[in-house]
Amino acid sequence: MTQPYDLDTLAIRSGIHRTEFNEHAEALFLTSSYVFDNAQQAADRFQNKEPGYIYSRFTNPTVNAFQERLAVMEGGEYAIATASGMAAILTTMMGLLKAGDHIVVSQSIFGAAVQLFTNILSRFGIESTFVPLSDIDGWKRAIQSNTKLFYLETPSNPTMELVDIQALAEVSKNAQVYLVVDNCFCTPILQQPLSLGADIVIHSATKYIDGQGRVLGGAIVGSKALLKEGIYSFLRTAGPSLSAFNAWILLKGLETLKLRVEAQSQAALSLAQWLSEHPNVIRVHHPGLVSHPQFELAQRQQTHGGAVVSFEVKGGQEKAWRVIDSTQLISITGNLGDTKTTITHPATTTHGRISEESRVKAGITDGLIRVSVGLESLNDIKTDLSRGLD
Ligand SMILES: *Cc1c(COP(=O)(O)O)cnc(C)c1O
Repeated sequence: MTQPYDLDTLAIRSGIHRTEFNEHAEALFLTSSYVFDNAQQAADRFQNKEPGYIYSRFTNPTVNAFQERLAVMEGGEYAIATASGMAAILTTMMGLLKAGDHIVVSQSIFGAAVQLFTNILSRFGIESTFVPLSDIDGWKRAIQSNTKLFYLETPSNPTMELVDIQALAEVSKNAQVYLVVDNCFCTPILQQPLSLGADIVIHSATKYIDGQGRVLGGAIVGSKALLKEGIYSFLRTAGPSLSAFNAWILLKGLETLKLRVEAQSQAALSLAQWLSEHPNVIRVHHPGLVSHPQFELAQRQQTHGGAVVSFEVKGGQEKAWRVIDSTQLISITGNLGDTKTTITHPATTTHGRISEESRVKAGITDGLIRVSVGLESLNDIKTDLSRGLD
C-alpha cells in the first residue's frame, strides 16, 4: 500500500497482511520459530532458496508489519526494526563500517550515542570526528580519505539546533559517504530526511512512535540495497532484534502518531512563547520561535517545531534543580515523547557522562532544563512550571 493514499491513511492501513482468520486488528505473533512442511522446505528456507519465516531473531510477521508501515511513512523502501534506538545506531554502524574507517558525527547527539562512538566503536578501529551540527563547511573539512558516513540528529537534543539536510546531503553525495539522520525528535510526521537526500533514517521508537512510555524499540529505514546487505546480516546474526510484542505496541502507536505529534508540537510552541517572556528565563530553544537562529530553515524543513522545549534559567544548576523539584504534575524522568509531560536537567542526567568541554560546546549549560510536552492541559503545565520559576 503506497500511492494514492495520504500519510494519515498509510499510518493506519499499511503493513496489514491478514491471516486465514481475517482478524481486523493487526495480529500479534508471539512465536520464536516457524514450522516447515518437510525437511526439504526447511533446507530451502535456510539456504534462502525459498522466502518465508524461519526464526524470530531474523523475521516475525508482527515485526514485519511495523517495518513495512514505518518505511512507507518515512518514504523509504525498507525498514529494519531493532530492540532499541541504540540498537538501531549500533546495527547501522556494524553493518556499514569496518576497522580503519572514519565517521563524521554531529557534536550535538544523544549522550549514549557519543559513548558508543568514542568508547566502544573506537576499540574496534572506527574513528569519529565531532563537528558543530549546523556548520556545513565543518562537515566538509572533516572528511578524510577513509570517511564512510555522516551521523546527526536534527533538531538536536536538547538545544534544538538544526542542520540543512538538503545542503549536507549534497556534501555527502559528492564525498560518496552515507548520510545517516536520527529522526527521533521529528518523526516522519514533521520531517522526512530521505526525501531531502539522506541515505538512512534512524529511530528510537521508544519516544514518539510508542508515545506512551511503554516499550523500547528502534528502526533503520532506507533503500533495500543498502539495508539488506551488511545491516540486516548483522541484525540476524548478532540479534538486537525487536520483540513481536513491542512491535505490536509500536505498530499501534504509528496509527495515532500524527495526532499526538501535531498536538504536542502546538502546545510546545505555546509553552516556548510563554517561557520567553518569563523574567527568570535567560533563553528558550524551540525551532518554532521566531527568535530561533534557524527559524527560516525550520519552517522550510519541518512542518512543526516539535514537542521538546529547552530553556535556561538564571542561577545555574541550583535554580534549575529548584524548578524541577517544585513541579507536582510533570514527571521528572529522562524519557521524552510521552503523552505525559517530562522534565530533565540534561547536564547532570542524559548528558552527564559527556566531558564538560563537549557539553559546553553543545550548549548544555548548568541552568538548562528540557521539557518534553505531553497532552495534558497547557494551563496545568504552565502552572506547574511557575511554582519554581516564579
Ligand atoms: C532516546 C534516543 C536514542 C536512543 O534510543 P533508545 O530507544 O533509548 O535506545 C537515540 N537518539 C535519540 C535522539 C534519542 O532521543
